[in-house]
Amino acid sequence: MAGMEGSEGGGRKKVVVVGGGIGGSLVAKSLQFTADVVLIDPKEYFEITWASLRAMVEPSVAERSVIEHVDYFSNGRIVTSAAVDIAERGVVTEDGNLFPYDYLVVATGHRDSVPRSRRERIAQYQDEFEKIKSSNSILIIGGGPTGVELAGEIAVDFPEKKVTLVHRGSRLLEFIGPKASRKTLDWLTAKKVEVLLGQSVDLGSASDGLYRTFDGETIRADCHFLCIGKPVGSSWLKETLLGGSLDDRGRLMVDENMRVKGHKNVFAIGDITDELKQGYLAHAHAEVTVKNLKVLMSGGKGPKLATHKPGSAMALVSLGRKEGVAQFPFMTISGCIPGKIKSGDLFIGKTRKKLGLKSN
Ligand SMILES: Cc1cc2nc3c(=O)[nH]c(=O)nc-3n(C[C@H](O)[C@H](O)[C@H](O)COP(=O)(O)OP(=O)(O)OC[C@H]3O[C@@H](n4cnc5c(N)ncnc54)[C@H](O)[C@@H]3O)c2cc1C
Repeated sequence: MAGMEGSEGGGRKKVVVVGGGIGGSLVAKSLQFTADVVLIDPKEYFEITWASLRAMVEPSVAERSVIEHVDYFSNGRIVTSAAVDIAERGVVTEDGNLFPYDYLVVATGHRDSVPRSRRERIAQYQDEFEKIKSSNSILIIGGGPTGVELAGEIAVDFPEKKVTLVHRGSRLLEFIGPKASRKTLDWLTAKKVEVLLGQSVDLGSASDGLYRTFDGETIRADCHFLCIGKPVGSSWLKETLLGGSLDDRGRLMVDENMRVKGHKNVFAIGDITDELKQGYLAHAHAEVTVKNLKVLMSGGKGPKLATHKPGSAMALVSLGRKEGVAQFPFMTISGCIPGKIKSGDLFIGKTRKKLGLKSN
């Protein structure tokens, strides 16, 4: 039987935010002085995901990009556990507690197997850096944004190392258009990264620095990094109150106010929703949700509910410290211009400011 938690709180409404990633952290921070907010996350920190590949080649970056929840969310309750169930009465966590809510925000984008504490996460980046530094040849498995950005970081910071990138699909960055894929392939090839498309590495057969693809190619590498896409963090929702609101790809279907279809007091934001998986959208969803919760909590006396309209696919992928590839609604460009927008600071300062923190 789950223990009932957090039922105190005077006249303020109870908002439970599940997931302290890009979207959930912003909601928790923005509502902490308006409602009794509980933030549920299996780790004690928020992480700027798009800085993670830079942190692997420059571990000090993680000091700015891995942020304790308590640093931006000081006036609420942080629960370090995973949510495992949602019922009419509240959210149940893995450690057996129940958190009742008036309003619920689901923001469980992707569940990664990362350490629980910030200190351990920063140490993990240091280990990855040492692994890169001590290897002459590196195999990267996966040609989505993570694999491509990691290849770019290593190629620029360690040009003497042999980097091989193996991707199962027929083109890199399949989540955006073919033009961006071509420009990325050209850039990586010019930086002497060997790119193998349409191939999968058989990790089971790897031994003594020799890797084989299922097509019989062999790759010599001192180490490898697995950069394959992670499934959305929604499997735990199937047997819950929200199970009927998942689409056939396991994403929560939301209306234009960011409310989960069929549930007036439940919102979903970020990668868990049926929209493109991008952090700027998770932020946009969070901002609409915060506005709407404020309206609803004031008894609906304020303005009408805010709406979010899905836009065209936009993406920026960094290629090392100065260059990048960008897909905007009407054009795709690569080189220094997208590099200037993203690749220098990787939006770390901007994201920290959104959470009310100093940019450095
Ligand atoms: C390499 C890389 C580069 C990227 N570059 C960009 C970019 O330049 N621009 C851009 O806009 N986007 C970029 N993205 C995409 C962006 O990171 C995601 O869209 C964004 O993180 C989604 O935010 P979110 O809040 O939905 O989920 P996440 O940030 O994934 O957060 C999910 C949170 O939920 C928690 N969680 C999971 N399961 C549970 C559970 N059961 N109970 C409680 N908590 C749970 C997790 O611990 C995590 O804290 C990039 C992604 C990657 C990997």
